[in-house]
Amino acid sequence: MDQRRLRLGLVGIGKIVRDQHLAAIAQSGQFDLVATAAPEGHVEGAAAYSSIEAMLAHETLDAVSICTPPGVRAPIAIVALRAGLAVMVEKPPTATLSQAEHLARLAASGGQTLFSAWHSRETAPVDAVRAMLTDRRIEAIEVIWHEDVREWHPGQDWLLAAGGFGVFDPAINALSILTKVLPGHLAVQSAALGVPENRGAPIRADVMMHFDGSVPVRLDLNMRHAGTARWDIIIATDRGTIELGRGGHRWSVDGEVMPVEQGQEYPRLYRRFAELVDTGRSDFDIGPLMLVADAMMVGHTTREAAFHF
Ligand code: NAP
Repeated sequence: MDQRRLRLGLVGIGKIVRDQHLAAIAQSGQFDLVATAAPEGHVEGAAAYSSIEAMLAHETLDAVSICTPPGVRAPIAIVALRAGLAVMVEKPPTATLSQAEHLARLAASGGQTLFSAWHSRETAPVDAVRAMLTDRRIEAIEVIWHEDVREWHPGQDWLLAAGGFGVFDPAINALSILTKVLPGHLAVQSAALGVPENRGAPIRADVMMHFDGSVPVRLDLNMRHAGTARWDIIIATDRGTIELGRGGHRWSVDGEVMPVEQGQEYPRLYRRFAELVDTGRSDFDIGPLMLVADAMMVGHTTREAAFHF
């Protein structure tokens, strides 16, 4: 039987909505974008409101996709869940763990769909790497997540403010991949966090974790990186090295580059959201968020030179 089309509202109309969400929604065939809620942004063909409260006062919706910065996301999700809607949240799902737990409880008690949209998990090689790791012994893991914040997040002061995740905003994508592909447990051991003297969140971090109790996992994270970005995960195993490059858009096994279908992350997210709504289920995994929270909890912070966009 065909799925019914869902009347969707978008909350927060910024870079990621324009880069990815609008095209994915348009091609989904499962959602009608009815309205938007954002202080300023709007989308042609959809009614524009300045807040979720105003949007819900005028529109009948089935679902919302919340694409604001994480700091304001939980209160918006609470309004949507209390209004009986299905809710998809951009990553990171919330700014704190207690907010995440609250949302999960609200959704469960209302029998509503709540979906944490870990887009990097939707890259093509993730399932293949997960399958490949089930019968190999992992010896070491290295994550290199280097990018220029001026290029990838121009003017986004929220990202470097306290609660904005800083370098963990992009690096949580690596953790979303690792927590999906690894057949075991990741635990944070230590973290060195470099916070610019005029900002509240780390712009650099060096994090040590263990996989399954003893396998070393090192994360070298830097948003103050001039030059070509690197979003690489290197997994050394007893039967060779698996590399996930470009945030999962490229992968190789022992240097042999494997084929990858590109551009499917956000279409897959919206297909999954529709499927969850249709079957009355939630998918709200906060594993990557817990690891970031742990790194912040055990992290040793040093102040570094001021950063200006
Ligand atoms: P952005 O460009 O700063 O956009 C955020 C949008 O949210 C802006 O339109 C902002 O409006 C709006 N907003 C702020 N407070 C709001 C509120 N209370 N109600 C409604 N709208 C509100 O940020 P972004 O890059 O799109 O990132 C948004 C989220 O997506 C982040 O969690 C990020 O991690 C995630 N994400 C980003 C990327 C990327 O490449 N940028 C990729 C994947 C995921 P004003 O500008 O008027 O304040």
